Amino acid sequence: VQWVYNFGAGAADGRAEMKNLLGGKGANLAEMASIGLPVPPGFTLTTEVCTRFYEDKCTYPTELKGQVAKALARVEERSGQKFGDATNPLLLSVRSGARASMPGMMDTVLNLGLNDWTVAALAKRSGDRRFAYDSYRRFVQMYSDVVLGIELSHFEKLLERAKQRRGVKQDHELVAEDLEKLVMDYKARVHVEIGMDFPEDPHEQLWGAVGAVFNSWMNQRAKTYRQLHDIPESWGTAVNVQAMVFGNMGSDCATGVAFTRNPSNGANDFYGEFLVNAQGEDVVAGIRTPQELTIKARKSHGSDLPSLEEVMPNIFRELCTMRQQLETHYKDMQDIEFTIQQNKLYMLQTRTGKRTAHAALQIAVDMANEGLISKSQALMRLKPELIDQLLHPTLDPKAKKQVIAKGLPASPGAAAGKVVFSADEAVRRAKDGEKVLLVRIETSPDDIHGLHAAEGQILTIDGVTGEVILGEVPTVPPQLSGAFGIIMAWADEYRTLQVRANAETPNDARQAKEFGAQGIGLVRTEHMFFDGGRIIAMRRMILAADEADRKVALEELLTMQREDITELFRIMDGRPVTVRLLDPPLHEFIPHTEAEMAQVAKAAGVPLNRVRRRAAELQEANPMLGHRGCRLAITYPEICEMQARAIFEAAAAVGKAGGAVPVAEVMVPLVATLQELSILKEVVEKTAAAVQKEQGMNFTYRVGTMIELPRACLQAGKLAEQAEFFSFGTNDLTQTTYGLSRDDAGAFLPEYKAKGIVEQDPFVSLDQEGVGELIKVAVERGRTARDGMKMGICGEHGGDPASIEFCNKVGLDYVSCSPFRVPVARLAAAQAAL
Ligand code: PEP
Ligand code: MG
Repeated sequence: VQWVYNFGAGAADGRAEMKNLLGGKGANLAEMASIGLPVPPGFTLTTEVCTRFYEDKCTYPTELKGQVAKALARVEERSGQKFGDATNPLLLSVRSGARASMPGMMDTVLNLGLNDWTVAALAKRSGDRRFAYDSYRRFVQMYSDVVLGIELSHFEKLLERAKQRRGVKQDHELVAEDLEKLVMDYKARVHVEIGMDFPEDPHEQLWGAVGAVFNSWMNQRAKTYRQLHDIPESWGTAVNVQAMVFGNMGSDCATGVAFTRNPSNGANDFYGEFLVNAQGEDVVAGIRTPQELTIKARKSHGSDLPSLEEVMPNIFRELCTMRQQLETHYKDMQDIEFTIQQNKLYMLQTRTGKRTAHAALQIAVDMANEGLISKSQALMRLKPELIDQLLHPTLDPKAKKQVIAKGLPASPGAAAGKVVFSADEAVRRAKDGEKVLLVRIETSPDDIHGLHAAEGQILTIDGVTGEVILGEVPTVPPQLSGAFGIIMAWADEYRTLQVRANAETPNDARQAKEFGAQGIGLVRTEHMFFDGGRIIAMRRMILAADEADRKVALEELLTMQREDITELFRIMDGRPVTVRLLDPPLHEFIPHTEAEMAQVAKAAGVPLNRVRRRAAELQEANPMLGHRGCRLAITYPEICEMQARAIFEAAAAVGKAGGAVPVAEVMVPLVATLQELSILKEVVEKTAAAVQKEQGMNFTYRVGTMIELPRACLQAGKLAEQAEFFSFGTNDLTQTTYGLSRDDAGAFLPEYKAKGIVEQDPFVSLDQEGVGELIKVAVERGRTARDGMKMGICGEHGGDPASIEFCNKVGLDYVSCSPFRVPVARLAAAQAAL
């Protein structure tokens, strides 16, 4: 078994694809080495060593020692240095590297191989005794902490004492002699603490460090991190042993980090920073102000420190070449770490760079335009959820703002409102039309009492930066042009699924159209009746004493419904619009408290007793499985007739006004049997014929059904004799297939998820094994009965990427989702097609 993989400039045993075996860091070091980048030579002990280590009670496979010795010899050869040599010593870094990044969770040892002899050689090579002894001091401290388990505070105390002796405040003010003495003090302390000498033998040091890194896989920090990030314990970590390079050996040394493109806006600019005469930690620690890489960045940031381009122009050019080489090779934006040691550049790390949603789109578009990747690759690498982040309004960058606090950036977009401190108050004020921000005590209760004093104060929170700003800052609408527009256009080229929206208000319809919806897949007509004055007419209809009374109320509803649908047809401008007949049980329109019932009686002009009686009559034990959906239209055909009339008169009105006449799609909800559909289709057809005659014009329309009951799926072949289209109502279909109430599941689903009973909330992402199986059956049976029958989905799943992929696979024609999910669905549909 090969337990150890070598790498060094120009060659490597491993490759980038071997992350499982070599860890992310090791795999990329191997890859960089093999494409000829200047990587300090080294070797990787595989994650399998770690697994074996834990399986075999913290012992190593027998071949390991020999393989490490060989690998070490290769590093000596490649670096021209010798481990433990008193004149030209090789020094090593020993670092962890799991498959998934676990920043800072496991242990690292640097400057390994230093002892009382090699330190002298390091002093000579660097021409700097202070540097050599400082490295030695840091090594003894780090090794004692990580490998020997000695408290850091012991060393901190000794360091303090050294500074007092010298009469200085800062570490860097200590001179070589102080540090040399300090190393002796450190070692004496080690002896006191563990009863043994600090190991001088470099080989002993190496095995100590390797063991410590493997052990750190099971430390508490790492365990917690793995739990939080769903990283399996069985993965193990690799250990990377690599020749040290020093960015802090003098003014011809430096260290830095960079992104090959700007990670916040995606611009094709080299973006990063560096520090002269410093180590990697110094850049991250933020004690010294880092310098820019390019002259352009220096100027745009108004920095008075010279850029790398100016300080080390040759190195800068080399780095630019490597930037190019890395992008050409990895075909993605990279996040790199580099070190310059005595005017020689080394690459220490590369990985795919994290970026904002905005940058992700820009980079994908640019790389496709540059020919680095194909259009389809550009589409495939964008998570559809990124699109969602771009659709929220953001703060106007030109607005003045007074930042009073900063939190963790937690969401895209921004929000402004009055500060309130209880959920009840938030709800109450929001109902009154006020904009509120609910402030909850979370991690830092101390900050909140200050805000309490300003209750009612308007604040703005920028979700992107985490800034809390005094007052209301103006926002700008999301940018739908640029990279976003291009990605959407490319998605449209590839996808075969159509994308529609669920919408019933003119605003939603307009929004949906702007986001590229190709029609409306679901108009929930009941939403139109809940509105303001409309509910009065609706109640009058429900409370009607007789047929004649009901007709009058229906007449009123007809006018309103016709106007609403006309507006939707006009906005959608010839695109298909699917209007669903009334769906919810009627009791939802009638209040149940005495006071409210009295109000309703007055408004509707009926006796209070009748309201009471109707409310009692409409009461159901299980309304979701009760008198709703098409069952309403079966018992009150006049409601169905009124709605059909409204739809057709609207179509005629739009046509007569010179607009594009839509293909009106009338959709019957909650159908279980063919008879239900037949009865209602006849009502709709009669009404259509009547309207066409009255209006003296013909229009096309279709009558179809929602498929939202298991019985409807199984009977799809029969239903298709009458239905001209199917629309899968996967909200109800999930509810009825699972026997899981969509309104109550929230109470226990989290526990189901935690226990692994369900992987995902089935109301969010379609249960493909269960509900999906029924959909497959229905598609197949429906299309067998009616060739080429149009089918879509209008449950919330229509906006979920995984569900969209499934819809594409089973051959649906379209998905319909809420307007803000339309762009997400367009991209997901393209990915499904690719
Ligand atoms: C459904 O059941 O999936 C559906 C779209 O209808 P509603 O959510 O209105 O019940
Ligand atoms: Mg439904």
